[in-house]
Amino acid sequence: MPKFKKIEVPAKGTRITVKNKKLSIPNDPIIPFIEGDGIGRDIMKATRRVVDAAVEKTFKGKKKIAWMEVYAGEKANDLYKEWLPKETVDAIQYYYVALKGPLTTPVGGGFRSLNVSLRQLMNLYACVRPCNYFKGVGSPVVAPEKLDVVIFRENTEDVYSGIEWKKGSKDVKKVITWMNKNMKTTIRTDSGIGVKPISVTGSKRLIRKAIQYAIDKKLPSVTLVHKGNIMKYTEGAFRDWGYDLAKKEFGRKTITEDELWSKYKGKAPKGKVVIKDRIADSMFQQILTRPDEYDVLAPTNLNGDYLSDACAAQVGGLGMAPGANIGDYIGLFEATHGTAPKYADKDVINPGSLILSAVMMLEYLGWEKAGKMVSDAVQKTINKKTVTYDLHRQMKGAKKVGTTAYADNIIKNMK
Ligand code: NAP
Repeated sequence: MPKFKKIEVPAKGTRITVKNKKLSIPNDPIIPFIEGDGIGRDIMKATRRVVDAAVEKTFKGKKKIAWMEVYAGEKANDLYKEWLPKETVDAIQYYYVALKGPLTTPVGGGFRSLNVSLRQLMNLYACVRPCNYFKGVGSPVVAPEKLDVVIFRENTEDVYSGIEWKKGSKDVKKVITWMNKNMKTTIRTDSGIGVKPISVTGSKRLIRKAIQYAIDKKLPSVTLVHKGNIMKYTEGAFRDWGYDLAKKEFGRKTITEDELWSKYKGKAPKGKVVIKDRIADSMFQQILTRPDEYDVLAPTNLNGDYLSDACAAQVGGLGMAPGANIGDYIGLFEATHGTAPKYADKDVINPGSLILSAVMMLEYLGWEKAGKMVSDAVQKTINKKTVTYDLHRQMKGAKKVGTTAYADNIIKNMK
């Protein structure tokens, strides 16, 4: 066990381990959580209460989460004088499954995104974001229930690799001079430069997870989302490697969209997952106009970032957008949104996104029953029209409640 300076390991609780390449989950798993900055403080409190209530009601005391606070962001800076202490990363790697609130990232300077660092340091290469509709939630589209997708966004590469040089710096001058001289480019000398690496390794492990998910859940299609018409050797290659992997590793269980029409007259044989691809701009319009033709989406990192928020908006906004960062074993579950600082500590924000991320976490633990109890209770609370401000402004005749009261209602509505 790693030695911790500030983290207190709960006296009662057992570590999750890996046995035979699978997570082995005890009845009292120690689960680290990062509270998060801004609204993190409001939503983490509410979420843990909801999860504990569902686990208690489902398993009648036979199972219980032993929460363990670990630190990142402002709280870590107060405690350790660093934003992301090494022991936080060590703890999550050691205990495998963790829940995380949002963390502040300065724009245009300051320190690097802690969220991105966490994903890269632990190789959490798939950002998994389900987007489906809870009945009754207001939506800007006519038929929000038609959208039911799970996004597997690449999480470690692309323009998120953090390789950037500032305009006017010594380093950027070196890069531009070398490029213009040796690669015959004509980059303006007053440019900032960023690098966009996309590898076979990073692409294939992500696409493999997306296809495996579609097979396990018996979903009809996986769509590779890219901008390969413009960035041929990064985004275009991502697409090509995806088709290649589908054929080599899942050849018996997948067909391409071309084959769907050339061999099967547009009707996929039973049990086959159709592998398609869409250019990102086309994907954005298709997800609005023909959402029910898509099931699992596998985009490159930046496209996936945009697409997740756009899909979340279609089904009611960021207050209802859960997510997870998954590696080979580690799962770090977090909402899609950020710290929404203007609402921090006001007890008004919707904790739904973190609560639904915790549902994903419960499913990851194999505690699906408890997860279902939570999502059913969220639906019931929405049916009863007692909701937080974000849902209230989109729903007719609803009653507005704060974060704590909303969580209380979810707990009350558990059966
Ligand atoms: P944001 O925190 O996601 O908030 C943007 C807007 O989204 C809010 O003003 C609010 O809209 C809505 N929103 C967010 N969370 C909501 C919730 N739980 N319930 C209801 N509505 C919600 O984005 P930001 O203001 O651009 O970013 C703030 C900070 O968060 C930045 O430092 C950013 O880097 C960081 N960030 C962190 C993560 C992460 O930790 N993974 C992710 C994204 C951003 P209305 O004002 O319309 O109500």
